[in-house]
Parts: sequence; C-alpha cells; structure tokens
Amino acid sequence: MPYKCQPIASHFINGEYVEDTDGKIIECIYPATGEIVAKIYSATPEIIEIALSAAKSAQKSWGKLSGTERGRVLRRASDIIRKRNRELSILETYDTGKPLQETLCVDATSGADALEYFGGLAGAVTGEHIPLGEDWVYTKRIPLGVCIGIGAWNYPTQIACWKSAPALACGNSMIFKPSEMTPLCALKVAEILVEAGAPPGIFNVVQGYSDVGATLVADTRVNKVSLTGSAETGKKVYAAAAAGMKHVTMELGGKSPLIIFDDADIENAVGGAMLANMYSTGQVCSNGTRVFVQKGIKDAFLKRFLERAAKIKVGDPMNEETQFGPMISERQRDIVIGFIEQGKAEGATLICGGNAIKGDGWFIEPTVFSNVTDDMTIAKEEIFGPVMSVFEFETEDEVITRANNTDLGLAGGVFTNNIQRAHRVVDELEAGTCFINSYNDAPVEAPFGGVKGSGVGRENSKAAIEHFSQLKTVYVRMGKVDSPY
Ligand code: NAD
Repeated sequence: MPYKCQPIASHFINGEYVEDTDGKIIECIYPATGEIVAKIYSATPEIIEIALSAAKSAQKSWGKLSGTERGRVLRRASDIIRKRNRELSILETYDTGKPLQETLCVDATSGADALEYFGGLAGAVTGEHIPLGEDWVYTKRIPLGVCIGIGAWNYPTQIACWKSAPALACGNSMIFKPSEMTPLCALKVAEILVEAGAPPGIFNVVQGYSDVGATLVADTRVNKVSLTGSAETGKKVYAAAAAGMKHVTMELGGKSPLIIFDDADIENAVGGAMLANMYSTGQVCSNGTRVFVQKGIKDAFLKRFLERAAKIKVGDPMNEETQFGPMISERQRDIVIGFIEQGKAEGATLICGGNAIKGDGWFIEPTVFSNVTDDMTIAKEEIFGPVMSVFEFETEDEVITRANNTDLGLAGGVFTNNIQRAHRVVDELEAGTCFINSYNDAPVEAPFGGVKGSGVGRENSKAAIEHFSQLKTVYVRMGKVDSPY
C-alpha cells in the first residue's frame, strides 16, 4: 500500500528523481494524525557527490545566460505554482500540519511571488560605469557559484522558493536541503522548475538530517550558504562556512516584542497580537511573542483577546474552516508544554489554554500568560509555539529598554495612533523587520531578516540580489601605462 504523499524518490538531482536506499530512513508524519504519509532516505555520500557535481557543472552555462532568459524560467515556474496552488497547499498541509485555510493563501503563493519578482528583476542585475577622465572602471554583478539552501520546517515551500528564486535569478545553482521534518514540498518546487525550462542541475533537492547539511556546507565547491533555522544551528553553520570563506545568509530565530500603547485601537491591536502569536500555531520565526501592553488598557486588551481566542477553530487542518492546527511533531509539542509548565512554575498567570489536546496528533491549546516578568524563562527563550506572554509597562522609554533586552533582533511591532511615537519607537527597536499597526506581513518586495543573534543578510527584495551575487571590477586604461620602472 503506497503512502499518501510518497514521492517518486527521495532526492531530485540533475533534473530527475534519484534514490539511494542505503540512506537513513526519514518518516514523514502528518502532524494532525500521526499517520506516516511518506518514507524517504537521507542522502548517502554518493548522493551528495552527484548533487555537488551536477550543481557545479550546470551553473557554468546557466550563469552565462542573459538575466532575461533566466527570469523567463522563474516566471513560468511561478505561473505553474499558482495553477497548482490547491494541490501544493494540500501537500504543504500534510508536510507541516498547518491548516489548509493558511496554506492556500501563504505558502505556494508566496513562493510564486518570489519566483515572479526575482524573475522580473533578473534582467536588471547590472553593474555600473565609473568615469575616470579618459579611463573608466566598469563593474559586473556576477554569480557566486554553487549555493546551499538549508530549510526549517515551518514554511517548506516558501523557504525553498525564497532561497532559490534570487539565487537562480543571479545565475547561481542551488542544492536545497529541506528540514528532515518536512522533506516533501521542495521536491515539487524542483519538478516545477524543470517543467518551466530550468536546465538540469540548477536546482537540486537533497534530503537529510544535520549531518547532510554539514557535509554540504563544508564542501570546497560550495560558495554560499543560506540557512533558515535556529540561532544555535546558525552559529554552527556560520562558523563552518567561515572556515571556507563562504558567503552566508542566516535567517534565525527571534523573541520579538510587540508594543501596544494605550492610544491604540484595541480591536486592531488584538488582531495584530493574535496574528503575531497564533498563526501557524505560533511556529513563525518573527512572531511577536513578548506583548508589552501599556497599563491603562491592559485589562481591556486581555478581555477582548480572550473573547476572540475562545473562537479560534482548532481541528482538522484539511477542513477549510479550521484556523489552528497541530504542532509539527510530538517532540516540539513536548518542548512547548515544557515551557508552559516553566511559565506556571516561575509565577506567570496562565489565563488561557496551557494544555496539550488529547487525541491523535500533536495539538496544543492557544495559550496566554499575563503578569510575565522580564526574567522568566518564557520571557527569554524562543518557544516556537502558540504561547503569548503579556507584560505590563508604563512609559515609552521603559518599554523600549525592555523590548531590546534580548540577544535576538528579528522583528518588532508597535500599535499606537500617535504617528510620531510610532516612528520614534521603531527607530529605537533593535530589530531587522518592524511593523507599525500591523504584524508579520512579509511581501516579497520588502527586505526580511534580523539583527543581533537573529542573523545576517536579508531575504526578498532587491537586497537579496546583493546576497546572491558579487562585484567584479574592471579598470580600462585608454593611454599607455604610467610606469616608473
Ligand atoms: P534547526 O536549526 O533545528 O534546523 C534548521 C535546518 O538546519 C534543518 O534543515 C537541519 O537539518 C539543519 N541543520 C541543523 N544542524 C545543522 C548543521 N550543523 N549543519 C548544517 N545544517 C544543519 O531549526 P528548525 O527547528 O527546523 O526550525 C525552527 C527554527 O528556525 C526556529 O528557531 C525559527 O525561529 C527559525 N526560523 C527562522 C526563520 C527566519 O526567516 N528568520 C524562518 C523560519 C524559522
């Protein structure tokens, strides 16, 4: 009996599916039921070798095409993804457990946005002309070479596209290693790119655990590593890439603040805080999990939040009415429950949820703590689950200091109707991505990424072009060389 989502083979290299059953088995489990939906194999050294040599040799001719020719492939892939959105969204839901209501809107579609945007930009990746009297310098923006993409498990399609689209637009090739928790979606991206006309070897998918990622990062044929993962993994991968002087983009974890002033529109602020904590069952890197509410409106804010939280539809992710699915895995569920227990033990007030939901799958109730203080574990560590911590504050200066009191700096938000205050506060927030009267918007046109321990580099926008290309400078002399020798 074949599994529900069984791919043709585990890896996709040089334009086709490839298998090596000597690799360690990776079971793909649907988080809503615990059912095994596919079984694949982690890459063996032979698989890694054929992927690296395919990516290396394919990059040479791909990098020599005009940007417009490369862009055309990406834009075609974007169109195919949009046409197949429902089928891809169902696979994303099997891979992650996220409700179909979400995956239909934000996963394949945001991957398609990236392919469309970078497809459009590809022809505009140019250098400059620098006049120097009768001489001049020109610069070329050239590819880096072979890029490794390593994904987290929360947005498998989106991460594969956010990394591959700018990489391919700039003339690089990529080997993408999905998270071992969600290996299925990137294979579809690879298939679709080939269908759109990408030459074999330009985008390859190699499955595996951290050891496969580490082997790819260390290989001397690799020129760039783009990781989405935890801050701890980021430090290891950054160090390994530095040993080979490789370019990096690090999209890591966060513990982001969301500041709600007493002049904010409460209904809007509650909506923002819900998006910032409950979307994708809280498994979003940029979530605003430290919600600072000004003293005057704290009670009103919490009352309204709880009323709305009680109506969140938890359940079968394949039912399009469902708004809130399970955690990615049993392990992640237990980690989050562990944080909740610690919050209770350290004296925070649990005002909503707090329990695992009995039955199949790894569901947790939407959870809210109030009276959280800055020294508690739940205030300091990234939980990566549906757990919101509410802090009370009095003054603007106080809340800015407290908001910045973390080693991480991925995102931050402010809700206020005072326009000067909104800009003043985001100017002071130590965060790469900020929101005013909103939370967690990530359009492809806007740079996305963190400061401090949350990473280096930016994804999306024109900024990503700089992270997937490098400058070559050419000095052109019209006269004779002026040599004193
Ligand atoms: P993780 O760090 O455990 O794993 C991420 C990826 O790195 C996986 O594919 C894993 O196999 C690989 N990996 C682990 N160790 C490695 C090593 N030494 N060398 C090479 N590869 C290695 O993260 P996760 O649990 O999959 O995802 C959750 C984390 O990702 C959270 O911290 C979250 O905040 C972060 N995240 C960040 C962003 C962002 O854009 N900033 C987006 C999504 C998730």
